[in-house]
Amino acid sequence: MERALIQADMPREEMRRMVVALRSRLQLDMALNRAIPAAYLRKQGAVKRVYTAAPERVRGGAVDRPEQTLAGVREVLGDCRRCPLCKTRTNLVFGEGNVRAGLVFVGEAPGADEDRQGEPFVGKAGQLLTRIIVAMGLQRQDVYICNILKCRPPDNRNPRPEEIAACEPFLIRQLQAIQPKMICALGTFAAHALLKTDVPISLLRGRFQRYQGIPLMPTYHPAYLLRNPAAKKQVWEDVQKIMKAL
Ligand code: SF4
Repeated sequence: MERALIQADMPREEMRRMVVALRSRLQLDMALNRAIPAAYLRKQGAVKRVYTAAPERVRGGAVDRPEQTLAGVREVLGDCRRCPLCKTRTNLVFGEGNVRAGLVFVGEAPGADEDRQGEPFVGKAGQLLTRIIVAMGLQRQDVYICNILKCRPPDNRNPRPEEIAACEPFLIRQLQAIQPKMICALGTFAAHALLKTDVPISLLRGRFQRYQGIPLMPTYHPAYLLRNPAAKKQVWEDVQKIMKAL
């Protein structure tokens, strides 16, 4: 009875977001051959196409199921049309880097340069991120870099909750495939989306949190540093904590 009352009071927008998130999750689980019956999903109109898993692959002596690999997640994502951003993107930006990285950087969404090139963090902010990575004693190819959203919001507007809900299941699978020791969330939206909070990034940064069981350090986005160079000192403090923990 109490649950029914809560649901009745739930704002329409929140309900819609939940449905989008659930549908995206069901589609992904379905595509990855999870336990949800295909007939049920078809009946609900949740899936239009049933993806089949590719044959198992052997890597480093261990057998990987396709859904446990980044390539498998990318395959399932396909030419994604799960949210309206598919209509305005030039390229879907999946992510790039070491498939066994100990450290994963998660940003907000592709910008104009990334959208054009199909690669994450390649504009001015990306070049600054590269310098930060090098200052940590690493190379870009040592880490993995991706975003909450894989398609650029028009005019770089803020990501919408339903877009995050539709896209986040793929980020979760990417992280499950990589199994990093640490995540660095870059900027307000990445930190808020991952940690499900609206605490200001200025208060979140500098302290380890957890995402899907993985230690997560929120810090400022490189684009913010381009506008506020004085904040580089704090980012350097944050990445030093990551280096120490790694
Ligand atoms: S943002 Fe994510 S969910 Fe939306 S279309 Fe792009 S890949 Fe699909």
